[in-house]
Amino acid sequence: MKVRGAVLERMGVEPPYTVTQPLKIEEVELAPPGPGEVLVRIAAAGLCHSDLSVINGDRPRPTPMLLGHEAAGVVEETGPGVDDLKRGDPVVLVFVPSCGHCLPCAEGRPALCEPGAAANTAGTLLSGERRIARNGSPIHHHLGCSAFAEYAVVSRRSLVKIDPELPLDEAALFGCAVLTGVGAVVNTAKVSAGATVAVVGLGGVGLAALLGAVAAGASRIVAVDLAEDKLALAARLGATDTFNAGAPECVEQVRAATGGGVEYALEFAGSVRAMELAYRITRRGGTTVTAGLPPPTAALPLPLVNLVAEERTVKGSYIGTCVPARDIPRYMTLYRRGRLPVNRLVTGRLVLDEINEGFERLREGKAVRQLVVF
Ligand code: ZN
Ligand code: ZN
Repeated sequence: MKVRGAVLERMGVEPPYTVTQPLKIEEVELAPPGPGEVLVRIAAAGLCHSDLSVINGDRPRPTPMLLGHEAAGVVEETGPGVDDLKRGDPVVLVFVPSCGHCLPCAEGRPALCEPGAAANTAGTLLSGERRIARNGSPIHHHLGCSAFAEYAVVSRRSLVKIDPELPLDEAALFGCAVLTGVGAVVNTAKVSAGATVAVVGLGGVGLAALLGAVAAGASRIVAVDLAEDKLALAARLGATDTFNAGAPECVEQVRAATGGGVEYALEFAGSVRAMELAYRITRRGGTTVTAGLPPPTAALPLPLVNLVAEERTVKGSYIGTCVPARDIPRYMTLYRRGRLPVNRLVTGRLVLDEINEGFERLREGKAVRQLVVF
């Protein structure tokens, strides 16, 4: 079938994207779902920093690629062998498919699925196939999703069936921002009620983590960012303290305000500087978590002596150490009960043709979560 979608021709196109338009809205050919695959009518797809990192080349991927990895939609058609989903089922797309058989999958860590990661790197579905083409030449899938399009063919193992009660535009947020941010707090850091927490980097994922810290019952929630408007939003969402990372005394200020640092510091900015700051505001015996994705060459110099003498823990968190089929329904229940108001992260709704303008706003730091609504 013919569908309209946003195709990235090549990485590293110079901003402003309003002028250079790195994503072209084109009609592409979508093949029918193969064995174990599903055709999904996309309802909404979020603009995430990880899309931006492909556009600007920080996260190199094969091109041409149809972008978009945070989305929700409705099952339109199932391929051979898919017997647990049917036409009309609402679903959230998850950006690492889990094969169910590799060692991480067998250990209950599907976010680390090895064939899933290999397919994502190659720009294919879990089957190794590409179902998108233009004039007969294949286009790569983005993280098994390619959701900036009216329809997507994805692996069954990239989907979680959800409660039909939830509006699909809000459901889209659960595929990346919520899964990654809330998961970093509750799964990776395992923040306990009454603990002290800091969130460094207040994009969509960082602010979702902040809401997760509120839901987890953290007693003190320190928000750190370079932008004053993001700090103000963090305060409205439940941060107890806000600090500007640009202030020369930022680390000392946080340590003084929290009696020597926080028990859990989580970094979402994807920069070495932000991670160093997160490490320095973690207290003795505390845990520093990083979920920000820096460019592949970035390296972190750690003062090893306090790793030892202060029994520090440093942890990476990918998609919030999630088990999607367990976590997405849980977070949605919290959302419906008003305990995780992630709809407050949405700063705009766009049509597909406005997507370059949306990415320019994200690049400039003028947006938290924007949704393309179909
Ligand atoms: Zn994302
Ligand atoms: Zn696996």
